Amino acid sequence: MVTANVIGSGPNGLAAAVTLAKAGIDVTVYERSDAPGGGARSAEATLPGLVHDRCAGFHPLAVDNAFMHSTGLEHYGLEWALPEVQYAHPLDYGRGAAAYRSVERTATELNDPAWRRLFGPLTRQFSAISADVAQPMLQLPQAPVQFARFGLRAGLPAQLLAALLRTDEAKALFAGVAGHGIRPLHSLGSSAVGVTLATAAHAVGWPVAKGGSAAIVDAMLAALEAHGGTVETGAQIDSLADVPSADIVMLNTTPGAAADILGSKLSDRVAAGLRRFRHGPAAATVNLAVEGGIPWTFEPARRAGTVHVTGSVPEMAFVERQINKGIMPRNPYVLVGQQSVADPSRAHNGVHPIDAYAHVPFGYPHDATELILNQIERFAPGVRDRIVATASRTTADLEAENPNYVGGDIISGSNTMHQLLFRPRPALNPYRLGDSGAYLCSASAPPGAGAHGMAGYNAANAALAELSA
Ligand SMILES: Cc1cc2nc3c(=O)[nH]c(=O)nc-3n(C[C@H](O)[C@H](O)[C@H](O)COP(=O)(O)OP(=O)(O)OC[C@H]3O[C@@H](n4cnc5c(N)ncnc54)[C@H](O)[C@@H]3O)c2cc1C
Repeated sequence: MVTANVIGSGPNGLAAAVTLAKAGIDVTVYERSDAPGGGARSAEATLPGLVHDRCAGFHPLAVDNAFMHSTGLEHYGLEWALPEVQYAHPLDYGRGAAAYRSVERTATELNDPAWRRLFGPLTRQFSAISADVAQPMLQLPQAPVQFARFGLRAGLPAQLLAALLRTDEAKALFAGVAGHGIRPLHSLGSSAVGVTLATAAHAVGWPVAKGGSAAIVDAMLAALEAHGGTVETGAQIDSLADVPSADIVMLNTTPGAAADILGSKLSDRVAAGLRRFRHGPAAATVNLAVEGGIPWTFEPARRAGTVHVTGSVPEMAFVERQINKGIMPRNPYVLVGQQSVADPSRAHNGVHPIDAYAHVPFGYPHDATELILNQIERFAPGVRDRIVATASRTTADLEAENPNYVGGDIISGSNTMHQLLFRPRPALNPYRLGDSGAYLCSASAPPGAGAHGMAGYNAANAALAELSA
């Protein structure tokens, strides 16, 4: 029987493990932490009974992708829940903007026909576009016309694309989503993440997993077990000598860690390519327990799953440029997750779990709780009086919890144009690590960050294709 070792049990590691196990391979997953799941774990971080998503909370790219379709996690207990407002962006003086499933409703409330013109066609073609976005960029797209339409917009600086919209509300709404890429808004390709996620909001929504993101992990573990795979936790792997030999090795790690673990099995050329990979700016997080939820002045934000708390486009462009230069601003980009809006079972005795983070420079050493709360308070006066418990993590805490978040880089590698196109290194098959029999299956490989499992699925399929060649 062919054997495989998967090092790391994040959503990509588990997706790779499930895909290989379904093909009849004997799979063992090794995870350094006490619990599997990597960036899709949930836990009681603040109060007993209040479940927080410790990392990923919203899953727009997970609902309609090839891994999820091939595995059918809903048969293993996974249920999605959508908020009414997919994401919102409060502005000063009670103004703001909200994105709904309907492009029409969103454009009408924004009073901006340009939003309809931009996202209407992309939304209708989302299935085809997202299938190509989930693949390495050096492969021929399956839907070239639709992908070209997407690429023409995705390649633009986010500030430029925002300028094509008409109202300040629409511009801010788009810039807030583009901020997920953690790039300066004037840089080429800084629209890519924003165009993808904003289109996904209309096409499939920004769902949460009912009960917490750990439900995705539980469903993947159930699928793995059903196909005979096993997971060993508490297993830090520093070299191949730490695991029994196997025909296939899947690395759900950073490119640098993959080079360390594989050592002399890697050619110098591949190792050098992996070591050139760059990690980008970072995040510092705070989980909050909030009595009655956050009292946003802009009312639709109270009904939103995600709230981008960062003010106007010029303000956001400034702070994103700062953190990319290594300078911490006083009013950073803050993202607030309100999972209980989509899944009311997440609130406990009227107290809501809120998961927030601020963009910070790589390796920023300080706690960002006060900066985050100041930003929220600006658009939701009185919020501090409702907070009953907090739990924060610095960039160092994030990296200690999960070494893939180098310096607090939560997107597993800077989204520079080069790394958007060629991550982790330029190669026709970016998962395959030369002739070592090993594959990189983490979010440092295409299609990049997110708890969608597509890097793991693609890497596993690359290994299966080579087995049958
Ligand atoms: C605060 C925060 C918020 C986020 N929000 C979202 C969101 O809303 N939506 C979204 O889609 N994404 C979000 N993300 C990003 C998402 O969590 C990651 O992109 C995703 O988890 C990456 O998956 P992965 O499987 O590649 O790696 P990871 O999830 O990082 O998992 C890697 C696993 O490998 C283990 N590991 C690493 N090295 C070794 C080793 N040497 N030996 C053994 N085990 C090892 C780690 O312990 C970890 O469990 C967020 C991340 C953070 C931190």
